[in-house]
Formats: sequence, C-alpha cells, structure tokens
Amino acid sequence: MIFIKSKRLQQLPPYLFVKLDRMKAEALGKGIDVIDLGIGDPDLPTPKFIVERMIAAIQKARYHSYPSSSGMLDFRKAAAGWYKKRFDLSFDPINEVAALIGSKEAIAHFPLAFIDPGDVVLVPTPGYPVYNIGTLFSGGEIYYLPLIAENDFLPNLDSIPGDILKRAKILWINYPNNPTAAVAPPEFFAGVVDFAKQNNIIVCHDNAYSEMTYDGYIASSFLDAPGARDIGLEFHSLSKTYNMTGWRIGFAVGNPDLIGALTQVKSNVDSGQFEAIQEAGIAALESDQSCVREMQEIYSERRDVLVSGLRDLGLDTPFPKATFYIWTPVPHGYTSQDFSTLLLEKAGIVCTPGNGFGDSGEGYVRMALTVSKDRMGEVIERLKKIL
Ligand SMILES: *Cc1c(COP(=O)(O)O)cnc(C)c1O
Repeated sequence: MIFIKSKRLQQLPPYLFVKLDRMKAEALGKGIDVIDLGIGDPDLPTPKFIVERMIAAIQKARYHSYPSSSGMLDFRKAAAGWYKKRFDLSFDPINEVAALIGSKEAIAHFPLAFIDPGDVVLVPTPGYPVYNIGTLFSGGEIYYLPLIAENDFLPNLDSIPGDILKRAKILWINYPNNPTAAVAPPEFFAGVVDFAKQNNIIVCHDNAYSEMTYDGYIASSFLDAPGARDIGLEFHSLSKTYNMTGWRIGFAVGNPDLIGALTQVKSNVDSGQFEAIQEAGIAALESDQSCVREMQEIYSERRDVLVSGLRDLGLDTPFPKATFYIWTPVPHGYTSQDFSTLLLEKAGIVCTPGNGFGDSGEGYVRMALTVSKDRMGEVIERLKKIL
C-alpha cells in the first residue's frame, strides 16, 4: 500500500528544527561536544513554586475529567488579572480570554475560523513558522511582509498591493520578535490598528516574549493601542516567561467575537488543557513575578558575553532589548547556511540559519541564549579559533 500525503502536507517546507536535530545528532555521533544555540527552548527548570502547585493539583479528583475547551474560569480570571496588573488593561474572563494548549496550537488553529481558499494572510518573513503553516492548513494564501534591518525589522504595510489588501483577512505581528529580537514602538501598533480598520483585516499579535526583556525595556501590549480591541487578539504563552515549554499552556485575549471563533474551532478539535496544569499556570500568573526578574537577569548576562564576544570578532551584532535570541549578520562572503554549517563542523556550535525562518532571513543566523554564561564564554573561545 502506498500512502500518498495530502497536498496540504506535501506543500510544507521541512520543519526547520527537524533538520537541525539531524545535523546535531550527526555531530554528537562523531563525539563532538556540541553547544546547542539552535532551539528557542529555555534550559532552566520551571520555578519550584509552580511545580509544587502542580503536585498538589494533580491529587484533585475533579481535575481528572474532561476540562472545558475554553479553559477553567479561574485560569481565565488569572490571565485577566495578570493583564490588568501588567498592562493596566481589563478583559472579561468569560468572553475575552481563552486558555490555550500552548500558543502554537492556537496560532495554527486560528486561521481555520476565518480563512477560506483564496483568502490572504499577511505573514512576516523571517518569522515563526507556524504563521505560514496555519495559513496553508486552512487553504489560505500567504503574502510575505519582509522584516529588514533598514526598517527596524517592522513590516512596511504601505508596500502591500491593492489586490492583495482586498483579499487579506489576517495580519500576524510579533514584537518582541522571533527571530530578529526587534521590539516595536507603541506608534507602530497604533499604525497597525489604522491599517487594519481601513482594510478590514484581523490583527493577531503574538506576544510570547513580552516578559523576556532587558535593560529596563518594558514591552507593551498591542491591545493597548487605541481601537486595537475592535480588530485584534493577542496570544500569550507561559512557555518562555516561566520556563514551561513542556507544560503546554498559554492564553489568548482580545475581541470577544475573535475569541469566540477561536474557541469554536478548538472545541471541535481539542478538549482543553489538563486542569491541574491550568492550576499551576494560575500559580505562575498570580505570583509576585520575582521569578521573571531572575530569568531576565540570567539571560541578560549570557547576552552580554555572547554579543560582546561576537562584536570583538568583528560581527555587527546588536544587543537585543528583548527575547532570548541573538540575530546576527554573518561575515561577508558567507550565506546563512554556509556560516551555520561552519560553526557546527568546525566549532561544534549549533545555531539556526536565518533563511530557515523565511527568505528575508538570508544573511543572518539566530543564536538562542540557552546555555550558561560559562558555556557562552566557551562559544566565543571556539569562534576565535575559526574566524
Ligand atoms: C516560543 C514561541 C511561542 C510559544 O509557543 P508555545 O506553543 O506557547 O510554547 C509563540 N510564538 C513565538 C514567536 C515563539 O517563539
């Protein structure tokens, strides 16, 4: 029997990290002491008070049944409470907040609520691959918005042709940004709202990195822009903020019609996250956030070692104000792929070639701050020998 995959799957590019994992496995197989800066997954454990809350929660028999697909009301209240404290914005936990099984699933599912074949989704490039994939799974067409250094890695919305605008239904944005580590000024969000209202486009802001910020920079909420609540949603994740990538918990906040449509899709696909995990999420969201400040401190020290080292080696690497990524131009004469292959083969360092996040990422590599400060020192020592 020959199994022929759907066109939907056949058209997908190979998932970037699968390829990286294979290259890394080959290097490990050769006995190389690999330093992995490839994947955006925190190396530090989930804070202890969150784990302890989970241990207690798992004993509660009432959590052993099916959860509700939009999430426990107490979790949604905790998310709304966190929003109020963090951004001074109020949302109704009943119809303006939805719990997610990590934000990735919701980013992939959301287009199913609004996109039909022929509809266009505006997607940043380079960008988090799930924006494209959700579009393709829903049968939509992608129109790429390049994020380039000359424009501070913000999309140029004026460059979109009129015939695309007529068919565009969703715009994805993500600041602080993966992979470029760029941040957006509040004026940018205000401009996006005007653009969206003029063109009848839904805005989805992925704010997964709002808490991973340094040097006193505080990221804002897209929903703080005047009128944003009429046209948009914001996706949050506990993954990066509380080192909880494996737990699969996040939430979406914003316009009630958009939240309702997302919940309608999800209620037909999943049955919500295990309520004990949601209770652990409540502990995280309602905590004094000192664990977040500790996390920021650790990443900023690693950032300083890596970025100063790269700059000493002659690379024009900026110090990012946010995210745990370094987005650095590769040395003259290299492609992204050449440079990352060189780092792996000659220095045992895994990083992600920028073009893996889209064509506009060519000429860059992304390095994640996911090893200790000492190991970052070792990265620089190894690079000195080969550059
Ligand atoms: C890590 C990340 C997420 C979060 O994913 P989860 O599914 O919540 O773990 C979302 N968006 C971007 C851009 C990310 O890098």
